Amino acid sequence: MAGTLITSSYLIPNAVLRISQRHLKILETCPRQFEYTFCDRLTLPMSPQQQSKTQLGSDFHLLMHQRELGLPIEPILARSPQLNTWMQAMLQTAPELFQTDAQTWRESEHVRTLEIGNYLFTAIYDLLILQPDRADIIDWKTYPLPRSKKNLDLDWQTRLYLYLLVETSDYPPKQIAFTYWFIQSIPQPKSVKISYTLKQHRQTKTDLLALLGQLTTYLDANQANREPFPQVAASTGLCQHCNFVARCGREQLDSPAPDTFTIDDLHQIPLLPI
Ligand code: SF4
Repeated sequence: MAGTLITSSYLIPNAVLRISQRHLKILETCPRQFEYTFCDRLTLPMSPQQQSKTQLGSDFHLLMHQRELGLPIEPILARSPQLNTWMQAMLQTAPELFQTDAQTWRESEHVRTLEIGNYLFTAIYDLLILQPDRADIIDWKTYPLPRSKKNLDLDWQTRLYLYLLVETSDYPPKQIAFTYWFIQSIPQPKSVKISYTLKQHRQTKTDLLALLGQLTTYLDANQANREPFPQVAASTGLCQHCNFVARCGREQLDSPAPDTFTIDDLHQIPLLPI
């Protein structure tokens, strides 16, 4: 509505703030990018190619959700021949994923939350399969297998989703696994299964609390003195790949290319609010 001031909940003192894996990723990458994205709600337009990729990815998730619910999928399949190709490839490659029995509970787009202080951690699982002695988190990625599994282990989606499931269920870490399915891999979808341990769980808790502590400090300073969130060190080379490079005045920096490779590098989805 014209003239309406939209206030980010990140700017309301003592508001309960939602934290997703995307918040954690961006906060860890660059606090200033977090400020622009979630406090200032700055967004940049996507290219038609990016829009098309993002839409196809969303359609595939919707397709798998509707299929899991037993709802009609034909209207979704009609949107692109690629969707049916991907779905058939998944059904043929991993038929066990789609079988169920009386001992199994399963739900797609399953939401879990956990409140810590003023923060509400939120995870949306593409598919969660629970059995008496194990729990499997399944995530669909509509791009090819990444080069490094190590970065998947360290990705905040992996870490937060595993952490939340342990904290909100009776399953110990060793009974939980996270499997990414990379639908576009050739010649068939490929998976990466990540197991979990108590040691990793404790480390994630430590890292989460440290990040929350930093965020609280940045928010307090921003609200009290309008102090901007810190920028990432220019030497990381991240600015040259960031949508906010002009806003930060870092276009001219002669920085090296980043030596890290994250899951987001694969599909280059621009910053958008969750
Ligand atoms: S340009 Fe650099 S400092 Fe600015 S938001 Fe992006 S990564 Fe952070």
